[in-house]
Amino acid sequence: MTDAFYEDLKKLEFDHRPSGGLGIGMSMKVKRDGPTPIHYYREKRLETEVVCSSCTLRYSVYGVFAFCPDCGQHNSLQILAKNLDMVEKMVDLAAGIERELRDKVTENALENCVSAFDGFGRELCRLYARKARSGTKPEEVSFQNLDVARTRLLALFGVDLSAKVSVDDWRGATKSFQKRHLVAHKLGVVDRSYLAKTGDSGAVLGRKILIGADEVKRLAKPIRTLASGMLANLQELGESE
Ligand SMILES: [Zn+2]
Repeated sequence: MTDAFYEDLKKLEFDHRPSGGLGIGMSMKVKRDGPTPIHYYREKRLETEVVCSSCTLRYSVYGVFAFCPDCGQHNSLQILAKNLDMVEKMVDLAAGIERELRDKVTENALENCVSAFDGFGRELCRLYARKARSGTKPEEVSFQNLDVARTRLLALFGVDLSAKVSVDDWRGATKSFQKRHLVAHKLGVVDRSYLAKTGDSGAVLGRKILIGADEVKRLAKPIRTLASGMLANLQELGESE
């Protein structure tokens, strides 16, 4: 295109030699320096690389969640697993650093763990919104508090979030999620609400909550079970959106 434009302009070149009494001449010469560079626009920061766990197709998506363009499998469980793997790596990385920083990284790892499950749960509620009972607002369910999420899921879909995990795992996970709440909203200081909700005998009112690296790593397992159980239960209701 620029070549054609250049040729057209080139034809308009002229050169009038100085003539007459005043000796004024005029000329126009068209020049260019190399081919015009082409700028491409690509939105890099929104992309997520996924390898479909069902058909191994590699694809990129804007945002995070998507259906595989080939076999149609949704990547929600895969994204959760990827985030939980990252949490475990964070905790391992923290093991070798000084205490204050290590505690901070461990807190962040716990928050990431909860956020990953929250993102997963919200996405499933969105996907299965049409299967929800009327008046239950599936798009507003938060999964940052497991007991609340369990009650909401029962009301929405008649699905019990805790069904697939042992009582101990459920209690442990619930407690860890409550610790995340303290970290996010109370600078990690134990309050009455935390003690009432968890019955945590190791915690002291007004003192900082202890979050062990092992505890955060252990949390990944019941979260995976809760997530796959929730997905399986929702799939029994029928096709998603
Ligand atoms: Zn696929």
